[in-house]
Amino acid sequence: MKFAGYPASGALVARALAAVAFAFAALAAQAQSQSRTDCDCADANDLFSRYCAARGAVGEWDRLIRQVRSEESKQGKVISALSTKDDLALCVDEVISVIRHDKGNVPARTARGSTDRNCNVTVDAPTACLRGVIEYHESWHKKMCDAHNQPDAPWRDTSNPFSYLGALINRMSTQSAIDYMYEERTGYMLEVQYTRNRLEELAGRCKSDAFVPAPSGRSFTLRRCPRPDMRDFERKCTRP
Ligand SMILES: [Zn+2]
Repeated sequence: MKFAGYPASGALVARALAAVAFAFAALAAQAQSQSRTDCDCADANDLFSRYCAARGAVGEWDRLIRQVRSEESKQGKVISALSTKDDLALCVDEVISVIRHDKGNVPARTARGSTDRNCNVTVDAPTACLRGVIEYHESWHKKMCDAHNQPDAPWRDTSNPFSYLGALINRMSTQSAIDYMYEERTGYMLEVQYTRNRLEELAGRCKSDAFVPAPSGRSFTLRRCPRPDMRDFERKCTRP
């Protein structure tokens, strides 16, 4: 579908997508080779809880992406990130919280991070292992933020001075809701890969509620992630 007023030409979009694909491939490679010293047996529960929450978050972003796409089709226009970002983020936060507190999960410590409009990353984490998880997620946002601020970024080509000024002040002002959601979904996908890799490293040698005996083959496997039915919960999310 083609939307009126969409500023970037096909070539610019292709170039931007190529840059994103490259950044993603580089991060995925980094996930494989990450230092093995950040996480140890005492971190297994934190990693498992984070792994399950990140998987839940990816599923919720998928649901929201489908919903916003269908709204865009009906309205025939792009929905901006700025207008709906907080609402969408609330839906995902609710899913994460429900999974964290599910009785099928394990007790775990919390950590958070953010990347500001100048691409500076802040991490609040109680352990080196969780710090690694959060830094990994935020390093993706930092890459996207740095790409936005490059001299040849697509938004600088627009002839609309208001869009240009808006983008100088805040990346969200030119970002579509779909782009915003895909960026977050990718951040959580990277978290899933990262935590899964760390857990694989620990599985053979750590005793933890995160691991259960495997029926055959390898001696241990990951516990099943909780999959709560969100319809059982009263939601503040306005897009249930
Ligand atoms: Zn994020």
